[in-house]
Amino acid sequence: MYELNQIYIDGAFATPHGDERFELFNPATEAVIGTVQLADAEDAQRAIAAAKRALPGWSRTSLPERAALLRRMHAAVAAREDELFDAIVEEYGAPTSRGRWMAQYAAQVFLDAIHAMEHFEFERKLGIAHVVMQPVGVVGLITPWNSNASFITGKLASALATGCTAVIKPSEMSALQTRVVMEALHEAGAPAGVFNIVTGRGDVVGAAIVDSPDVRKVSFTGSTAVGKSILRSAASDIKRVTLELGGKSPTIILDDADFATAVPMAIQAGFMNSGQACIAGTRILVPRSRLAEFEALAVAAVESCVSGDPAHAETTIGPMVSQKQWDRVQSYISKGIAEGARLLAGGEGRPDGYDRGWLVRPTLFTDVRNDMAIARDEIFGPVLSIIAYDDEEEAIAIANDTTYGLSAYIATGDLARGARVAARIDSGRVMVNTLTHEPKAPFGGFKQSGLGRENGVIGLEAYLEPKAIIGLG
Ligand code: NAD
Repeated sequence: MYELNQIYIDGAFATPHGDERFELFNPATEAVIGTVQLADAEDAQRAIAAAKRALPGWSRTSLPERAALLRRMHAAVAAREDELFDAIVEEYGAPTSRGRWMAQYAAQVFLDAIHAMEHFEFERKLGIAHVVMQPVGVVGLITPWNSNASFITGKLASALATGCTAVIKPSEMSALQTRVVMEALHEAGAPAGVFNIVTGRGDVVGAAIVDSPDVRKVSFTGSTAVGKSILRSAASDIKRVTLELGGKSPTIILDDADFATAVPMAIQAGFMNSGQACIAGTRILVPRSRLAEFEALAVAAVESCVSGDPAHAETTIGPMVSQKQWDRVQSYISKGIAEGARLLAGGEGRPDGYDRGWLVRPTLFTDVRNDMAIARDEIFGPVLSIIAYDDEEEAIAIANDTTYGLSAYIATGDLARGARVAARIDSGRVMVNTLTHEPKAPFGGFKQSGLGRENGVIGLEAYLEPKAIIGLG
């Protein structure tokens, strides 16, 4: 049993003032594996005060000094890759290949931030003005459970690269990962107060951060509902906010696509991170003229996915993170059936051979209309919907008929056509015939998928205020 009772304030580990205990589960077995002593609002205030004290010093550091710390943080997190991988698998249930990528990516983001910082124009001359980009101040960084470690490190790397200091509120459901990252970051030897980590409830510690007048910006990744409440609270003192929220991303299969590659791409886009991915391609738009052919290949692809114990090498889809998520996914599978969608693969309940663990049968519906709940709501599990369309115009209209706009996927045999369709999709990212991530490119959503962007040089802008100084010649 893990006893997680440490937070990190002002360069030192501390026991939280808060005394509420939170249980951690292994989602593959449903067993309690530990308890977390949660921080409270007083801990949050201490962390904010430490970040505020550290700001004048850190905001005046040179770029080489910042790069040196980020390099040390990279090395320290990379050195803990195996430990982080074990935590990700045990507490989150990521399958081996995904867990390994997540553990490596949590370190890689520091190098990406150094690259962005070194290619960013912190000063420029515009007309007679000298425009300088000034760190916004103390920032609050709030992360979700579906990729907790790399959201901690990615947001922190951008904040530190720009001269901000940070208070991090990780997901309370990811305390094992947070402990590994926290210990690694401590070893990197940052000046006291430059970063602080307070694991607690969102409505307690998260809210204290969002409500604090000493926090000048919040970068939040999580659900659209909480994102909206943060935006409302931030209005009270015009706090800067970056919101990375939910999605219901379309995968548009054009009629000239090579199905040998398009089908596996579509299924992988939908089932990535066990379906618990904000960018999952959960609405697969298929030309009616090739629907039967697509359905047959897609069924085979879904049936070849293995939903099971993440410790097994052949597992490609791990458990849902919690009972609540499992119940939610099950409720959408029954809703899809009740709405008249046709089940092609999977369905309610656990995969064969399992009577425990929050495992879901990889599920594929067809005959889905875009106004059904399974096509409108973010389910956050391995449940995909095939929606047929008659022509390219209709495909684009269906793709954009959503309150979200985080990611979109296009499969086509003609890249010029892919570019034409991509230009008309309202989405922060459009992937044509590929699932390859580009960390230098901005990441974020249109519409209710978010506000602002992270990553690369564009992501750094969110941590900076432009200041125009005129009269210096
Ligand atoms: P969530 O919104 O429940 O929680 C996210 C974080 O916010 C947690 O740390 C939580 O404690 C905190 N929080 C909750 N209430 C708060 C409040 N009132 N004030 C401040 N903080 C509060 O989301 P989740 O269930 O952890 O994560 C899943 C969601 O995250 C999905 O909707 C998914 O699409 C989204 N997500 C988006 C991206 C992206 O980059 N767009 C990436 C990953 C996940």
